[in-house]
Amino acid sequence: FDDRDGSIWLDGALVPWRDAKLHVLTHGLHYASAVFEGERCYGGRIFKMREHHERLHASAELMGFEIPWSAAEIDAASEEVLKANGIVDGYVRPIAWRGAEMMGVSAQHNKIHLAIAAWEWPAYFSPEARLQGIRMTEGMYRRPDPRTAPVHSKAAGLYMICTLSKHDAEGKGFNDALMLDWRGQIAEATGANIFLVQDGVIHTPTPDCFLDGITRRTVMDLARQRGYEIVERAIMPEEFGRTQEVFLTGTAVEVTPVREIALADAIYHFTPGEITVNLVHDYDALVQGKAATPATSAA
Ligand code: PMP
Repeated sequence: FDDRDGSIWLDGALVPWRDAKLHVLTHGLHYASAVFEGERCYGGRIFKMREHHERLHASAELMGFEIPWSAAEIDAASEEVLKANGIVDGYVRPIAWRGAEMMGVSAQHNKIHLAIAAWEWPAYFSPEARLQGIRMTEGMYRRPDPRTAPVHSKAAGLYMICTLSKHDAEGKGFNDALMLDWRGQIAEATGANIFLVQDGVIHTPTPDCFLDGITRRTVMDLARQRGYEIVERAIMPEEFGRTQEVFLTGTAVEVTPVREIALADAIYHFTPGEITVNLVHDYDALVQGKAATPATSAA
């Protein structure tokens, strides 16, 4: 992904894509002192751009450093990157990290860097194709206790458990891993939040040890606009047995139904019903900037 044309914003200026390099003694590489964002641009506009850049700042603060560009400056730089690369429908990846001045666990005064890259990423799946649903299995690692790590930071280090769990799930033929938390409760997917529909009511885990996703909150608003009841609470995996629909939310996956979850002692099957189908379409209409005329159930 590093050998291609284009421009990446690095510490205040656009540089050729191939030249956006780091020194091998970068603290962020050795000790995961890095935070990032994942954003989507639809029709030339980044969806919830300011929220993403405020979260980037909040993530850095939880990691003990401050990004030397304001959220407004990061907004402007991101737009510059989109323009320079001619991107209309794409993905935007800002990342901030501690530099290479000092090598060692402590590096309080290392320079904080910021890079912003963006690439074309058209919607591969129509809402109809996405309704096929994905298959998940239990993650090989669990989301840690909030006393173990800054769990609300979108910090690079926390993706170690996600990458290992996702690789393991893919190796077993699944699309993604279901991440439980340290208590054994349902937490999320490796890059998305999770919702369960039980008898017409939407349930979702309380985000006390994982990201309260921007898409999660957006979809909860859309669900409330439809008059659906939403309950945030602790949910154990056994409850999949009395769940009719499961879906994920995230910048990348948007609203994606889950059709199967295979755990060690049980395999659960789900079919997208009216609630999931409506939210897939409502989210699609919102991000595409279409009139708020939600599609009706296609059950
Ligand atoms: N959890 C994890 C681990 C993620 O990586 C993401 C994607 N940022 C989410 C949840 C969903 O967050 P958002 O809706 O803000 O993309």
